[in-house]
Amino acid sequence: MPEKNKEVAILFDSSHCTGCKGCQVACKQWNMLPSKMGLNDNEFTGSLQGPGDLGGDTRLVMTFDEKPSGNKLQPIHWAIGRRSCFHCTDAGCVAICSSGALKKNDNGVVSFDTEKCNGCTYCQSACPFDVPRFRDTDGKIDKCTLCLDRLEEGQVPACVKTCQPEALKFGPREEMLEIGRKRVEFLKAKGFDKAELYGEKEMGGLHILHVLKFGHEAYGLPTDPKPNSMVGVMQAMKPVTAVGTAAVVAGLAVSFLAAMGYRRQEVSIEEAKKSWTPEQRAKADREVAELLKKEAASKSTGTNAQ
Ligand code: SF4
Ligand code: SF4
Ligand code: SF4
Repeated sequence: MPEKNKEVAILFDSSHCTGCKGCQVACKQWNMLPSKMGLNDNEFTGSLQGPGDLGGDTRLVMTFDEKPSGNKLQPIHWAIGRRSCFHCTDAGCVAICSSGALKKNDNGVVSFDTEKCNGCTYCQSACPFDVPRFRDTDGKIDKCTLCLDRLEEGQVPACVKTCQPEALKFGPREEMLEIGRKRVEFLKAKGFDKAELYGEKEMGGLHILHVLKFGHEAYGLPTDPKPNSMVGVMQAMKPVTAVGTAAVVAGLAVSFLAAMGYRRQEVSIEEAKKSWTPEQRAKADREVAELLKKEAASKSTGTNAQ
């Protein structure tokens, strides 16, 4: 196991992955997350991918993209990818979270404290990978924690533990980068010209690294991802207290999210607000009013509100 506080990473190698989805199951089991089990409970996606997307109860999804191989005998290659939190160095979700629920740890893990989450879903809007998801049953978000609880006990993440072909590896980030670079060289030498190591630089460096045999576009991963530009605006609003900031977030969410076309989250925020106590709501309203007054004053004097 890596030394405490040393940066760690998972290395996912798409060229070793068989698409068995054992990692998805291990994630659900370890984290005690329910699955839809009934006949036709899961939407048919037209591919082997299932469930179709991340969700409040699904921290990890393997993605299946079909890619022409140019080989008559086997005309299609699977571009098998992986979606979960990438544990970014420049984590937009942490920057925007004002309740303190999301935290960046010294080892690079972006951890999540359910108790502190107020369900505002701003982290989802800030994340270029659309990772944190709202859970209707408790009005909180959920996402991969890189199995921090297991790491603290000297174990590897549950998904890594179960992966039979060792498409998932875990260890010090530097070592994982080294293995990844060598594998990309090997794949290129085999004629996979677009093979690349994704995550070395993206978002300041990811802690889930990907060896992508066909290049990142084939797996639907963004080129040069950046946190949403609203992150900077929201950071400027951090001086208000925890409950107050949550309220500010919710108070301003309607206009922000509507402007961004996020109708679904708008409903989620309203849902989340229902679980606040009357005191929290009153405090929130006071702080929103206060903040808007400050904003208006700073606009009229031409200075920035702090
Ligand atoms: S357990 Fe390993 S081989 Fe199976 S889908 Fe997950 S990463 Fe791929
Ligand atoms: S992938 Fe999204 S949720 Fe995960 S650390 Fe990065 S910004 Fe946060
Ligand atoms: S590290 Fe843990 S929480 Fe994250 S995808 Fe793997 S099993 Fe799930």
